[in-house]
Amino acid sequence: MSPTEKRNIGRVLVANRGEIAVRIMRACREAGVGVVAVVSEADTAAMHAELADRVVVLGPPEPGASYLRQDLIIAAARETGADAIHPGYGFLAENAGFARAVTDAGLVFIGPSAEVIESMGEKTAARAVMEQAGVPVVPGALLPVPDAEGSLPATDVQAAAEIVGYPLMVKAAFGGGGKGMRLVEDPAGVQSACEAATREARKAFGDGKVYLEKYLQRPRHVEFQIFGDSHGNYVHLFERECSIQRRHQKIIEESPSPAVDDALRARMGQAAVAAASAVAYEGAGTVEFLLDDTGEFYFLEMNTRLQVEHPVTEWITGQDLVRAQLTVAAGEPLPWTQDELRVTGHSIECRVCAEDPAQDFMPSLGRLLTVREPAGPGVRMDSGVRAGDEISMHYDPLIAKLSVHGADRGAAIDRAMSALRDYAVLGPDTNIEYLLAVLDDQVFRSGDLHTGFLAERLPGWRPDGDLDRDLVLAAAALQEQTRPAAAAGGGVRGDDHGEILDGPWERLGAFRLRGLES
Ligand code: ADP
Repeated sequence: MSPTEKRNIGRVLVANRGEIAVRIMRACREAGVGVVAVVSEADTAAMHAELADRVVVLGPPEPGASYLRQDLIIAAARETGADAIHPGYGFLAENAGFARAVTDAGLVFIGPSAEVIESMGEKTAARAVMEQAGVPVVPGALLPVPDAEGSLPATDVQAAAEIVGYPLMVKAAFGGGGKGMRLVEDPAGVQSACEAATREARKAFGDGKVYLEKYLQRPRHVEFQIFGDSHGNYVHLFERECSIQRRHQKIIEESPSPAVDDALRARMGQAAVAAASAVAYEGAGTVEFLLDDTGEFYFLEMNTRLQVEHPVTEWITGQDLVRAQLTVAAGEPLPWTQDELRVTGHSIECRVCAEDPAQDFMPSLGRLLTVREPAGPGVRMDSGVRAGDEISMHYDPLIAKLSVHGADRGAAIDRAMSALRDYAVLGPDTNIEYLLAVLDDQVFRSGDLHTGFLAERLPGWRPDGDLDRDLVLAAAALQEQTRPAAAAGGGVRGDDHGEILDGPWERLGAFRLRGLES
C-alpha cells in the first residue's frame, strides 16, 4: 500500500471461527465497524455467528469445503458489502494466494502483503532475508531439492550435516504447527530422517523441501510481537516466553520472559524491528527466536499474522492489537511510537483444549454440557464456545484461552491457578488439570524454563484417577443454582443473623479437600 492511500473499512468479514473470530469481532464492534461471519454448516449457531451483523454459510463442516474455500469467502465479502477480510490465525491466515486474491478483488486483506507472507512462509527464504538484515539465525545448511521419489543424494546430505554438526534438526521449509521436524543424533540416521521428513512434508505441506538446523540444547522459545505500518514505522511490543510446549506446540505463554532483562530485551527488540523493516512489514507479526542460556539468540521464523498468544502482550502493554491491525489496514500510521510502549506487571495465558490427557491428549469430542468460566479482576477469557456447543473433529481442539494479569510473575501464577480451579467444563475432557500441574511445578515457578520442560518435568503425566474434578465443579454449580433461598429470591433469611452457612465448597467437604488441595 502506498503511504498516502487511505482505505475506509466500514465492514469486516472474519474468515475464521472459534475464539479468534469472536475476539476479532469484538474489536470491530468496539471500533464501530460492521461484522460479517462466515460459518460451516456445523457452526450456524456458533458464538461467532451470533456476534455478526450478517452470516454467510459456506458449506459442509470439513474446512476444505468451508473455511478454506477462498472463492466462497471472497464472494461472501462482496455480497455482504464487506471492505476487508480478517483471516485470524490458522486456516487461510498465512496463505499468500488468498491474500493476493482478496486484494485483487478490491478488498483489504488485514495482514501483510502477499509477497511478505510468501517470503516468510518458506523458512529457508526467511532465514536468508534475516541473515542479510544482520539478524542472527540458527546455524543451518540447505539441502538439494528431493527427486520425485523423495530421494536425496547421500553425499550432499552428509556434507550438509557435517557443516551443521550433531545433534541436528531436519526441518520442512514450509513446515508449521510443530510438524515436519526430526531430531538426528548421529550420522547413521541423517539420510533416512531427511527422506522421511521429505515424504511427510510433501503430504502435510504440499512441498517436500527440507533443510538442516543445529539442534540447540535446552533453548527457550522467546518471540517478539512486532507491528509495522504503510508509513515505514516499525515497533516491537516486547517479548513472549513460549517454552512450555508439548510436541513443539505452545500450551502456556507469558510476558515478560523470566529470562529477559532490560539489556537483552533491547538487543532482541532491535533485531525484531530490523526483521520487520527488512521486509517492510505492515500489520501485526511475530519474530520467533530461540534463546540459549548464555544470552545468545537465533531467529527461528516469522509468523505473518495475529498470534494465538497475543492476549499476554495486550495485558502487559494495555494495547488492543486487533484494533491496531484495523488502524494499519486502513492506511493510518501506527497508534504508538516505541517510546510510548511500556510493560506493566506480568501476564500468563493457558490454552484450554478439549483433549484427554489420559489418552495421550487425543482430542475429546462431543457436546459441552456445562461450562462455568472463571472471572474476576485480572482474569480474561477468550472463549469460542459455550454450553450446548459441539466439539467437532473437524476443528482445532482449543476451546478457550484463559489469560491473567498480576503485579509480578508469582501473583500471575497464583491468579491463573485460582482461575483454573474455578473453571468447570462438563462433557468432553479438557487439559485443565494438566495446566494446573504445570503451574504448580516448583521449577516452573522458579522460571527456569526451556522447550523440553514438559517432557522433562511431567513425562507421562496422567490425571488423578480418584477425582473427577469437572463433576465436583458441576455439582457445585448445580448446588448454587438450586439453593432454595436463592430460588425464592430471598437470600439469607431474616432470622438467620449470625448463623454461619456452608458455601458449596465447604459442603463438598472431604471430596474437595482430597482432590483439589493435595
Ligand atoms: P513450527 O513452524 O512448526 O512451529 P518452529 O521452527 O517455529 O516450527 O519450531 C517450533 C519449536 O520446535 C520451537 O519452539 C522449538 O521448541 C523447537 N525447535 C525448532 N527448531 C529447533 C532447533 N534448531 N533446536 C532446538 N529446538 C528447535
